[in-house]
Amino acid sequence: MDVMVPCGGLRHNRTVTTHADVLTDQFGRFHDYLRVSITDRCNFRCVYCMPEEGMVWQPREEILNFEEIERLARFFVERGVRKIRLTGGEPTLRKGYLNLVEVLARIPGLNQLALTTNGTRLAQDAITLRMVGLASVNVSLDTLRQDRFLEITRRNELPGVLQGIESAQAAGLETKINVVVLPGVNEDEIIHFGEFACKHSLTVRFIEFMPFLDNGWNAERVVSSAEIRSRLCDQFELRPLASGASDVAREYAINGSEGRVAFVSSVTDSFCSGCNRLRLTADGQIKSCLFLPPSVSLRDLIREGASDEELGIAVQKCLDGKWSAHPPMRNWAQRDNLTMVQIGG
Ligand code: SF4
Repeated sequence: MDVMVPCGGLRHNRTVTTHADVLTDQFGRFHDYLRVSITDRCNFRCVYCMPEEGMVWQPREEILNFEEIERLARFFVERGVRKIRLTGGEPTLRKGYLNLVEVLARIPGLNQLALTTNGTRLAQDAITLRMVGLASVNVSLDTLRQDRFLEITRRNELPGVLQGIESAQAAGLETKINVVVLPGVNEDEIIHFGEFACKHSLTVRFIEFMPFLDNGWNAERVVSSAEIRSRLCDQFELRPLASGASDVAREYAINGSEGRVAFVSSVTDSFCSGCNRLRLTADGQIKSCLFLPPSVSLRDLIREGASDEELGIAVQKCLDGKWSAHPPMRNWAQRDNLTMVQIGG
């Protein structure tokens, strides 16, 4: 069945013949990885993500309910999505999220269900998460120092997060650590994180600081992946590991250990040519790129009774507005994007 889709940026119509076409953009990139934010709320106040006070959360009725998340997950998996990552805010704060994980993990055709969390609930939930089908977890942890943890997150939860990481590994969840490196804040811990990776036989992913609405980003506040890697190479012998065309992180084994380090260089060495990611915000808006504003509300369409075909048209239109790559760093003003906590990274 052919569906003619008015293409926003391209000014010509495009024929959508198969389900898979729905997830293919004008540059031929197939989007088989969906990041779903299940809440805009968080129990941390990380300095590069949100203000200490005055956060206004979205009313519950504006947030996708579990049935809507499940419907959209099935819709996307039927069209080729093979990996779903649950994000937030802090996804583990969403009441009943373990049930949602169980329902999503059972969707036929979904190969991998993952979670990004600040780790505060992992110690108590890790075993259940593994049992209900979660495969992997990325824990956001920007420092190994108690005093600095308080400084960055404005919360005193480091011991609980470290316990959560151990519990996740013990439960058999593939566990990685996400570290946003900030000059003058935690860049002096790069080697310590390398040692942490070796000691705990896990992957530490160093992420370049990225611009989002109201996070005080500027180019001088970016420590490049090249700089981070060079510092690590002063201390460790790194062996590059093969990575897929869509992988955002370039991964390295630390010789002589089971530890790994990885680099997410969105700012200085982007990987847009192989981009396979779509994002769904907690209130059901679809984003074709981390740095493009949301284009359409799938929540509203669902609540207006839209069919899957109509959802497909909306997703296609969103993808037709996707650029081949984000613009160069310096002229990258984030006036019309969302805050990090609204996007879910
Ligand atoms: S910047 Fe946008 S297009 Fe580039 S890799 Fe990230 S999400 Fe994809």
